[in-house]
Amino acid sequence: MTVRLGCIADDFTGATDLANNLVRAGMRVVQLIDVPAVGGAQPAPDADAVVIALKSRTVPAAEAVESSLRALEWLRDAGAEQIYFKYCSTFDSTPAGNIGPVTEALMDALGTDFTVATPAFPDNGRTVFKGHLFVGDVLLGDSSMRHHPLTPMTDSNLVSVLAAQTTRPVGLIDHRAVAAGADAVRTRITELRAAGDGVAIADAVSNDDLLRLGAAVRDLPLVTAGSGLAIGLPANWGFKPSPAAAQLPPAVGHQAVVAGSVSAATNGQVRAFLDTGRPAFSVDPLRIAAGEDVAAEALAFAGRHLADGPVLVYSTESPEAVRAVQGRVGAAEAGELVERTLARVAQGLVERGVRQLVVAGGETSGAVVRALGLASLRIGPQIDPGVPWCAAPLPGGDTLHLTLKSGNFGGPDFFTTSFALLAGESR
Ligand code: ADP
Repeated sequence: MTVRLGCIADDFTGATDLANNLVRAGMRVVQLIDVPAVGGAQPAPDADAVVIALKSRTVPAAEAVESSLRALEWLRDAGAEQIYFKYCSTFDSTPAGNIGPVTEALMDALGTDFTVATPAFPDNGRTVFKGHLFVGDVLLGDSSMRHHPLTPMTDSNLVSVLAAQTTRPVGLIDHRAVAAGADAVRTRITELRAAGDGVAIADAVSNDDLLRLGAAVRDLPLVTAGSGLAIGLPANWGFKPSPAAAQLPPAVGHQAVVAGSVSAATNGQVRAFLDTGRPAFSVDPLRIAAGEDVAAEALAFAGRHLADGPVLVYSTESPEAVRAVQGRVGAAEAGELVERTLARVAQGLVERGVRQLVVAGGETSGAVVRALGLASLRIGPQIDPGVPWCAAPLPGGDTLHLTLKSGNFGGPDFFTTSFALLAGESR
């Protein structure tokens, strides 16, 4: 089975979001945590698409280019016929990069003179019209992204945003062409190429626009986008939405939730879990800072309850409580202490037979995945928009079912409905 689409994502939860869209459009997808060595021991996975998750969004541009080119080399080795560079749907970048420099490095390596760029994802409220990105009902430059600490986005015109970070001229495939269909988009691409443009921002305000764009870019060696364009590509190889694409091995073993997110949605999910009366252990950062072995206590607690159903270990607190802790220990130090503790808890839970694990929090997920030594995730059925179950081979040979939920995702009953969905899928 050959890998058709090779994807390079500039962060971890973005990679899962992209993989999830591809699965829903009918591809079987494996997500790799970082780039395996070319020609290394790990064989190319049995999948229609492979998504390599990098951490390259906000590192210096030269580093982002280097890791992206390594990913490209691995994906081409695995047989990928088209490359998809995935970035954030709010086009997070600065005039120094990294979207422009990585795009151009990939174009050079692939020997192609043209690609498209669109962060549009209408289902998540990201639309592009006349080159301008809207976040919900407001222009990007008027949204909260204006104040982002690392990549403040003050200009909503993506043609000028991208032009500031590329050497190639940037054009626009505007909505008239996209609305007129794939042939009109191809004609527009021919015009832009003839005029010497190397990249074109593509408008899209609906899923139908993305489907038309997807068909139009079938023969481009490289596409660059948020995760939205993924809904329009699988059909180019004849894939159709099918539950088989999301099939995972049967789930076995104990169930647990590890929550290290303090976002509003996770606070609600923790409350809903506590309301069910199921066993839950609260991790107090101040006790960790005082040198107490909170991870060992959490594991002893979990050990007593795992046989009876899901157990929750959480550091989730109200924003006021978190600020109080940060005031005493420092924000970075508190985050680090909690991440390290929860990663140890996740490791201990797996040692105690947990094989179905829900993790809440983006950074927390990264820490847990590293602690468990996971190298790849097969993407399964979606639990809530953007959050799929995954199956990962454990270093010992067993399979771990896990879902990595970034803070604000998921409905209020996520911590219980996720296990019910997995049980239903596994029957
Ligand atoms: P989200 O996806 O909601 O942003 P993350 O896991 O990415 O969640 O980030 C949450 C951060 O807050 C982590 O660094 C975590 O260790 C830290 N944290 C979690 N609980 C607490 C707490 N009670 N006090 C202080 N910091 C905390």
